[in-house]
Amino acid sequence: MLGRLSSSATLPSPLRPVADPTLARAGVTLRLKRDDLIHPEVPGNKWRKLLPNLRAAHAAGHHRLLTFGGAYSHHLTATAAAARAAGLASVGLVRGDELADRPRNPALAAAERDGMELVFVSRAEYRATLDALDAPATRRRLAERFGPFYLLPEGGSNALAARGAAATVAELAAQTTQTTQTTQTAPNGPDGPNGLDARDVVCCPVGSGGTLAGIAAALPPGARALGVAVLRGGRGYLESRVTALHRAGWSGATFPRWEIDHDHHGGGYGRIPPELAALTDRFERDHGIRLERRYVAKALACLHHRAERGDFPPGTRLTLVVTGPPSASD
Ligand SMILES: *Cc1c(COP(=O)(O)O)cnc(C)c1O
Repeated sequence: MLGRLSSSATLPSPLRPVADPTLARAGVTLRLKRDDLIHPEVPGNKWRKLLPNLRAAHAAGHHRLLTFGGAYSHHLTATAAAARAAGLASVGLVRGDELADRPRNPALAAAERDGMELVFVSRAEYRATLDALDAPATRRRLAERFGPFYLLPEGGSNALAARGAAATVAELAAQTTQTTQTTQTAPNGPDGPNGLDARDVVCCPVGSGGTLAGIAAALPPGARALGVAVLRGGRGYLESRVTALHRAGWSGATFPRWEIDHDHHGGGYGRIPPELAALTDRFERDHGIRLERRYVAKALACLHHRAERGDFPPGTRLTLVVTGPPSASD
């Protein structure tokens, strides 16, 4: 079952240059790394993050995934789809017991259609469970209630997920080498033998930080990663999450060349201010690519704003990782 999930993926995901006038005025170029096209059922960065965890769950003989998320969590929906495709049961603890009796929103409805057992818990219980998640007593209580499970943290960002996300950069480096060799006469020019170098900034949206952690860890010396927080109030917390994921996933290593922008969340998760909607509409019209708005559009807006402000030296090569496809409401 896992074999099917991995053999039906489109890898490497396509890399597409886009001629963006705002960025061109600032002397920088933009490429889209289309991770949104990886898989129809388990899209984008969720595929990259979940596959290594599904393999680990399978290897340990587990039959059930258990995870956590808010009511609009892409992670819950993707975990349900991945579990189903891998022949595993899934349980999702959802923040907010007031939701239990309401009609399901599209994210939760999709998770339920894929067989996820949704368990609505109060915000207090949700927080308390997450805070004590590593305590044996908590694990025991959850196992008594739901049966033995393989645990995925809220947002799905653990060390395996971050290592899965790192593959985006390996692909990108290989794809960059290919384009360099076909478009330039000196593929081994002054900027290094191939792949990514000091011109490169790889940008992605940040929810729980696993994707950024993987990208930052995989970049070669000189290249930088820029994460754009889509939630409000994550300053400090998200940086420490990414650092912890680096330590856990790369044997205690730390990586210096990344940062998180906290000024483009647009008011918080799921908030799409009018100027963000306008920018996204214009981009879609100009380039014929529909963009996911809770995450990807915010990262694009950050790149535009920083380019207009002159943050990127001319010649910078921006790559926006399109971490997921638009949903019906986009
Ligand atoms: C889940 C999601 C993210 C967040 O990824 P993290 O690894 O949790 O930071 C980013 N973009 C899209 C489209 C997502 O669905």
